[in-house]
Amino acid sequence: MPVEFTERLERIVPAAALSDVLASFDAPRPVGFRVNTLKAEVAQIRAELQARGFLLQKLSWYEAAFQVPPEQRRSLCASEACEQARIYIQDPSSMLAPLVLAPKPGETVLDLAAAPGGKTLQMAAMMGNQGRISAVEPVRPRFFRLRNNLQRHGAGMVKTYRLDGRAVGAKTPGRFDRVLLDAPCSSEARFTRLDPTSWRYWSLRKIGEAARKQRGLLESAFRALKPDGVLVYCTCAFAPEENEMAVNALLRKHPEELAVEPLQLPIANVQPGM
Ligand code: SAM
Repeated sequence: MPVEFTERLERIVPAAALSDVLASFDAPRPVGFRVNTLKAEVAQIRAELQARGFLLQKLSWYEAAFQVPPEQRRSLCASEACEQARIYIQDPSSMLAPLVLAPKPGETVLDLAAAPGGKTLQMAAMMGNQGRISAVEPVRPRFFRLRNNLQRHGAGMVKTYRLDGRAVGAKTPGRFDRVLLDAPCSSEARFTRLDPTSWRYWSLRKIGEAARKQRGLLESAFRALKPDGVLVYCTCAFAPEENEMAVNALLRKHPEELAVEPLQLPIANVQPGM
C-alpha cells in the first residue's frame, strides 16, 4: 500500500493499536448480517441458517445481528434468506452509527448519503416502519440500487431523493429530529492489501477533496436539524481531515448551537478522537 498512507497511519493510530490496524488490511473478514425484522424473526432465521450448515456467531451487542466465517460468504449471498430480503449483509462496524443515532418510531429522520441503503434499512427496522426517513443519494446507479434495496426489504416508510446532500439543508431547514451523515470518504478502513483496486487511487489530494465535500454536507446536515435534534457523522476513513477536523470546522462555525455528546460504544477497539 502507499508508503505515505502507512506513514500517516503511524501518526494517527496509537502505537499499541497499530499492528492490529495493519493486520486488518490482510485478514479475511467475517461476514456480518442483520436480520431484516420488517420481514422475518431473529429466531426463525437463526434456525433456518443453522439447519443449512451456516456457522452463526451472534453479535453480543445487537440482538438482530450475526457473523459467519469468510468462506461462507458466497453461500450466504445465495441463500433463500438473502435472496428474499429477510437478511441484509452488513459489516458489524457499519451497524454502530444507526445504533448511536437511535431513531424512534414516529420520528422524522434524514439519511443524507444513503446508498446502497444498509443503514437506512437498519433505521427503518429500528423504527418499525413508523415515521418518515428521507434518504438522499445523488449518484444515479447508486440511487436506483438504494430504491431497489428499500423496496425489496419492505422499508415503506422511506422516501428517496436524488439530490446533492449539500443542497438539502437549505431546502428543508429545521425539519428533522435526527440526521445520519455517513459521508462519502477516502474509505481507508476498507483497504485490502492484496486488492490494489481498493487503495490505488488514494492520495492526499483525494483526502482534501473528500474533506471539502464533507464540510459542505455537515453544514447541510446541521441546517436540516430541528432544535435539540441529533446528528451522527461517520466515515470509514482514518484521516483526521475527514473526521476530527471536519467536525471541528462545524463546531467552530456554530459554537452556540452545537455540542458534542459522549459516546458509549458496545465494542472494545475504540479510540478517543485526536
Ligand atoms: N449509508 C450507506 C449505507 O450504509 O449503505 C453508505 C453510504 S457511502 C459511505 C456514501 C454515499 O454518499 C455514496 O453512496 C455516495 O455516492 C454518496 N455521495 C457522494 N456525494 C454525495 C453528495 N454530494 N451528497 C450526498 N451523498 C453523496
